[in-house]
Amino acid sequence: MSTRPRPLVAGNWKMNGLRASLTELEAMVTANNTALSSNVDLLICPPFPLLQMASSMTLDAAKGRRISIGAQDCHTKESGAHTGDVSAQMIADTGATYVIVGHSERRADHAETDAIVCAKAEAARRAGLTAIICVGETHAEREAGRALDIVRAQLHGSIPQGMGASHLVIAYEPVWAIGTGLTPTAADVAQVHALIRAELVNLLPQVGADVRILYGGSVKPSNAVELMGVENVNGALVGGASLTAKDFLGIAAAYL
Ligand code: PEP
Repeated sequence: MSTRPRPLVAGNWKMNGLRASLTELEAMVTANNTALSSNVDLLICPPFPLLQMASSMTLDAAKGRRISIGAQDCHTKESGAHTGDVSAQMIADTGATYVIVGHSERRADHAETDAIVCAKAEAARRAGLTAIICVGETHAEREAGRALDIVRAQLHGSIPQGMGASHLVIAYEPVWAIGTGLTPTAADVAQVHALIRAELVNLLPQVGADVRILYGGSVKPSNAVELMGVENVNGALVGGASLTAKDFLGIAAAYL
């Protein structure tokens, strides 16, 4: 019998952050005390130029890794003539252990299809990284009553066969909730997360119950307790509020 997956609160810094911003990461590391770290895993995904520094500063010789570090995207291939791209292997080489794939901003800005997202998740697995696969409907799709169909199709198209629970996290991020201050109702979140859990068990019968499902979209300290308390919500993917230690830890405190 499987137990409830251990929660993960992940921060996506997007295209924000210079070296000076790492003082916020330092503050997160310092504040991640035993009370917090025994209940929840923390992850920060800074932009590529900060990845190596972030990885080094979160690794404590005595205490191990205090906060996990991840990237926001990877290429499908390990190396080659792909100017400007970064492979999963290169990300792993910095000491990072996670990579976000299929964020709606990449699906929109870079025309990433489910097939591309699937190949990126596969590349992440080959490199030993955990892939956070993002899915979620647009406002028009929700208004048309198609949210569940869209999310189901994205899951089927984006998850490689035979993924292990430790190499996969799903983030449900309604596109209309990202950076807008809007959030779905707890009942709507519960409905989509129940569908995702059922599809995970269907697609990955051995491990589907153990894969973490994050909610993302305008999570803040003030709504974290309600959203994190929803059935089948195993943590959060946080954009704007992950840029400061105060807000990020305020969200993680939902697990204290
Ligand atoms: C995101 O971009 O993954 C996200 C959830 O952003 P925000 O928290 O700012 O809505």
